[in-house]
Amino acid sequence: MSKILLKLIGVNKFYHMGEVTVEALKDISLEINEHEITVILGPSGSGKSTLLNMIGGMDRPSAGSIFFYDRDLTRLDDQELTLYRRREIGFVFQFYNLIADLTALENVELAANLVKNPLSSRKVLEKVGLAARKNHFPSQLSGGEQQRVAIARALVKNPRLLLCDEPTGALDLATGQKILSLLKKINEELGTTIIIVTHNSAISTMAHNIIRMGSGKILEIIANPHPVPPERIAW
Ligand code: ADP
Ligand code: MG
Repeated sequence: MSKILLKLIGVNKFYHMGEVTVEALKDISLEINEHEITVILGPSGSGKSTLLNMIGGMDRPSAGSIFFYDRDLTRLDDQELTLYRRREIGFVFQFYNLIADLTALENVELAANLVKNPLSSRKVLEKVGLAARKNHFPSQLSGGEQQRVAIARALVKNPRLLLCDEPTGALDLATGQKILSLLKKINEELGTTIIIVTHNSAISTMAHNIIRMGSGKILEIIANPHPVPPERIAW
């Protein structure tokens, strides 16, 4: 039996916009096991990024609990939440968010400096297939290469949970497949638990678990006993 890494109980999130209240998350309860890949699937506006931001400690729910192992994130103060985000979470975004005037290696080293026991920045760049490009700036790299640097930056902290928000959203099919294969390899070789957010149902077939969302709610949670290798997924 694998251990439960993450458990959400009755999570709600409201945004107050003047007179209007947006209910971005409605009564979300779920569990995620260690070492598994989960895809959160849903159309634009269904609350996927909001959910990922709560899990990653970037924002707080309006109600409910989020347990990371036995710690309830909603009971941490701001400083404790910052440490949680820094030590436990790696984040990968659709548009890479690299620092433009730092090289690939420097972008990764910056993240390594945030934690006590980082992996080797050079080795992690090697793992993502970019050893030869370590001294290049983001503007000298393709989209797929920039996303590899972003993945290396997230991984160098050796996080227990890697959160990826539409990681292939800005990439063509072949490049996107390679990024997903890399995420799969990281899951297999390092055991990192991974959550991938996407609106693309083809991508969900690579996951061990699929959480389908609509209008801020969970519609369905599906266990997938036969994940498809990412290189065989097309969209
Ligand atoms: P998704 O990532 O699935 O596209 P989001 O989580 O970004 O969806 O958004 C879910 C809903 O919450 C949308 O209606 C969106 O407009 C709203 N929302 C998200 N973030 C904010 C915010 N900071 N302030 C107000 N409304 C927000
Ligand atoms: Mg989103």
